[in-house]
Amino acid sequence: MPAPRMYKTEAIVLRQRRFGEADRFLTVYTPAHGKMDVKARGVRKTTSRMSGHLQPLTRCMLSLAQGHVNDVVTGCETLESFQPLREDLERLSRALYAVELIDRMVPERVQGFPTYRLLTETLRRLVDQCGFRPDLDACVGCGSALEPVENFFAPLSGGVVCRGCLGGLTGTRVLSVNGLKVLRLLQRGSYNDVVRIRMDGELADEVERHLRNYVVTVLERDVNSAAFIERLRREGARQTVEV
Ligand SMILES: [Zn+2]
Repeated sequence: MPAPRMYKTEAIVLRQRRFGEADRFLTVYTPAHGKMDVKARGVRKTTSRMSGHLQPLTRCMLSLAQGHVNDVVTGCETLESFQPLREDLERLSRALYAVELIDRMVPERVQGFPTYRLLTETLRRLVDQCGFRPDLDACVGCGSALEPVENFFAPLSGGVVCRGCLGGLTGTRVLSVNGLKVLRLLQRGSYNDVVRIRMDGELADEVERHLRNYVVTVLERDVNSAAFIERLRREGARQTVEV
């Protein structure tokens, strides 16, 4: 059997999922090979030296062996970890949103140098930005501490409002007591805490709706992000036509 072809490529990890006992599948975005799924063996073992380099949002240099279906990661080295993105809910949400857009919009295995550069620049810009964090402690209307009762998430006002301050606001949604607790944990916890949270389906849906609503509101307000989305749409359209 001939030895598998080996190659190296720069990549940004878009997402990862478990596979078997100790392996993961990674969806990575590369400049020359576009988006692809690769297999990383043994990275869930605590002794793995690779796992820290393969977290979502990391830009890394991957060594790969060509496989029958998926290529296999044989080594990796972090080029940029974008660590500050993992320490702030708002920046993390935006970064994950950017990565999700890429994941959804670009086809597999189509080279995309401009889009890759755009994603790298976006992640760098998000690192540089001062976070705008939703206020989850006091009502953004009257300033009183939030009671452990049903409140309302008001992304356009930048936080949570109590029932008494709800009148006249648009885009608000009911925020349950547990939903507020999870949002606080998301805001204050590290990336590792966040990925470990276990929620039942209803609560997970609620939190996801609030986060999505918040990220979309923030992105729409932010001219840079709006321009980013517009450029991405154009790149995505051009690439799809080229396939
Ligand atoms: Zn209030």
